[in-house]
Amino acid sequence: MFAGVELGGTKCICILGSGPDDIRDQVAVPTTTPEDTLGAIAEILDSWDFHALGIAGFGPLQLDPAAPDYGCVVNSPKRSWNGANLLTLAGDKPFALDTDVNGAALAEGRWGAAQGLDSWAYITVGTGIGIGSISGRQPLRGLGHSEAGHQRVPRLAGDGFAGNCPFHGDCVEGMASGPAIEARANRKGSDVAPDDPAWAFAAHSIAMLCHNLVLTSLPQRILIGGGVVTGQPQLLDQIRARLIDSLAGYAATALVTGDIDNFLQPPGLGSHAGPLGALALAQDAARLK
Ligand code: ADP
Ligand code: ZN
Repeated sequence: MFAGVELGGTKCICILGSGPDDIRDQVAVPTTTPEDTLGAIAEILDSWDFHALGIAGFGPLQLDPAAPDYGCVVNSPKRSWNGANLLTLAGDKPFALDTDVNGAALAEGRWGAAQGLDSWAYITVGTGIGIGSISGRQPLRGLGHSEAGHQRVPRLAGDGFAGNCPFHGDCVEGMASGPAIEARANRKGSDVAPDDPAWAFAAHSIAMLCHNLVLTSLPQRILIGGGVVTGQPQLLDQIRARLIDSLAGYAATALVTGDIDNFLQPPGLGSHAGPLGALALAQDAARLK
């Protein structure tokens, strides 16, 4: 039996089980202050019997075990969370910690739309744009974790929006996240008409991000989910068409463009990818112990 905690920007989900077909309990806790939220989560975990804990969190997170602030939220736009130590939740149990998107990507590989693959990427387009890039069935890792949603890509001709990333302005997250679309269109994302130019601009930025992922490591598949793409399913075909156009037949990219519906897919686990990601991390923690 494993426990997982998906720490999200608005709510955290605690999950007990061994996989999608065996969920024993699931409890949501609102994300407020680290003290209150982590305290409430610790109480839930205390009441459960499990072997290992997986924590999949919004970041940025310090994932270097040699760093003094290992396991802490660092330099997050959610300022009150900076320095919050997520590892206090693990007690003396085996644990694994990773970003929410790396967790979701691993869950897709184990139970969802990336089963049987060695390399894939999971993109969420929601409040932010996060990417879990998997190579050799492991998340890509350097000194820290991927923040590839903040890469800069050329804007579509005619797009005059300045972008709303507080760090970079017109990075992909600043151009195509839910809040970016709302800032462009001046209304709620769900109220922006499907033929509004905001969608073409967003689809372009996301397609450029996919272009860069394809040419960086040629993953076998890219999964795109999150509230924006789930709520606007027409975006997926627009992203596919713009990606084919952008790659322009270069190098081995025919492998991708010749089978685009297979290459670019929605996540198989839908909105369950997040909490199941925490469970996948817990399984890995138990295996590595
Ligand atoms: P989070 O990224 O916080 O985990 P979600 O993936 O659910 O959350 O994404 C939330 C974002 O999705 C919000 O910015 C919201 O405006 C946007 N969104 C939700 N529904 C729709 C919709 N139908 N069309 C466009 N955008 C939407
Ligand atoms: Zn940015």
